[in-house]
Amino acid sequence: MSMKRTSKRMMATTDPFDDDKLKEECGIFGIFGHPDAAAMTALGLHALQHRGQASVGVVSFDGRQFHQHRALGLVGDNLNSEEVIAKLPGSSAIGHVRYATQGATVLRNVQPLFAHLQQGGFAVGHNGNITNAVALRERLKRRGSLFQSTTDTEVIVHLIATSDYGTLIERIVEALRQIEGAYSLIAVSEEAVIGVRDPLGVRPLVLGRTRDGENILTSESCALDIIDAEFVRDVEPGELVILDAAGVRALKPFPPMRRRFCIFEYVYFARPDSKVEGHSVYAVRKRIGAELAREAPVEADVVIPVPDSGVPAAIGYASEAGIPFELGIIRNHYVGRTFIEPSDQIRHLGVKLKHNVNRTFIEGKRVVLVDDSIVRGTTSRKIVEMVRHAGAREVHMRVSSPPTTHSCFYGIDTPERAELLAARLDVEGMAKLIGVDSLAFISIDGLYRAVDGVARDKRQPQFCDACFSGDYPTPLTDREGGEKTPQLSLLAEIT
Ligand code: SF4
Repeated sequence: MSMKRTSKRMMATTDPFDDDKLKEECGIFGIFGHPDAAAMTALGLHALQHRGQASVGVVSFDGRQFHQHRALGLVGDNLNSEEVIAKLPGSSAIGHVRYATQGATVLRNVQPLFAHLQQGGFAVGHNGNITNAVALRERLKRRGSLFQSTTDTEVIVHLIATSDYGTLIERIVEALRQIEGAYSLIAVSEEAVIGVRDPLGVRPLVLGRTRDGENILTSESCALDIIDAEFVRDVEPGELVILDAAGVRALKPFPPMRRRFCIFEYVYFARPDSKVEGHSVYAVRKRIGAELAREAPVEADVVIPVPDSGVPAAIGYASEAGIPFELGIIRNHYVGRTFIEPSDQIRHLGVKLKHNVNRTFIEGKRVVLVDDSIVRGTTSRKIVEMVRHAGAREVHMRVSSPPTTHSCFYGIDTPERAELLAARLDVEGMAKLIGVDSLAFISIDGLYRAVDGVARDKRQPQFCDACFSGDYPTPLTDREGGEKTPQLSLLAEIT
């Protein structure tokens, strides 16, 4: 991802009506030994579009040359023709989708990044964030590395390029040993497709196989379903997987650590039809809703999800509470992300352009609204206002994650802490600001129980939950070293 944090303004221009959510920043896909590797990659990226909508890139290798197509925008708008796919020949390919960050929605930052190394051509993309990237970049620059982009991914490329080790795999391992933070990485060389998951396993990476036996590495299992491939297993934290002519080889080159998978993947980021870390995301979300109903019951007539991500938790809540579930808010899926540049007047309409109430199921009712998170609180406020305007007698909000009190530094686009509502106000204060009769969040223990059956181990938490607890599982070297948002490039960015 980019080494800068996202501003509210930038988020508004890419998705003006949904800027009150944390955003996943990348999805990755790679396949080895398939005659239509690029087409398979395009389909996989299509299924991963929820993980990043700002840019898309594919690099293929045909046995002699590498080919790339990198563009700003959606998969469907850029990898949609035979002509484009025909320019990406070869039996191995990797691809990447990425979410926008400030000052970085430019072609030079679109992944995969390609480089000529001593060992030959090499392209790499990753999902996550390197928390010591600025410090590493400065060190590399002092040694003569010439940076072309402002992404932290390029730091990985330079670390590999300047390594003294002999083989590409050794160089990758040496490079990654210097990196702090969270990443799932995909790379293609002249011999192989390579995937690596960071030692804590914060970001997801799964191994799959087509019916004809070609191997795949990708962020989520939904990218396997779309090409009728089977899920084989999750890549283990700290595991490096090589897909090549010999099949699948796995190495464990890093010292073992206790896994800290991102618990927010279950709450919101992953697609509900995916299976991650052994759990169906949809089933987990329903269990979170049921847990929430036990922790924060309320007398009500109807349970209504804030679409779309609140739906499974609302089903779980309604079924546990014995309250009818209704789709009381309908989302217009055709408000595109490339909608007109929003004027203040249109921005004011915001929520109404994307959501409308189903008045019949709201008027005169005591409503439980279920949402997955409250970030700044701006969208929640407008939705509550809309539901009240439709005649709800009472509005109770139930949230299927704990209060988001801290920023994420592991590849999820989060506002600065000062902008997070839960960092500024207690639950009562938030309820007042949002305009609800009552507000409750699932507890961290409740969330852990819903995912894995056991409460949080305070001494050794089983997941990363830093955005709820402030307990960051890796050092935040750049942040703590004052490397906040340095100017990484003097070259003006043309968007
Ligand atoms: S800080 Fe939150 S969003 Fe970021 S990796 Fe950890 S749990 Fe996930």
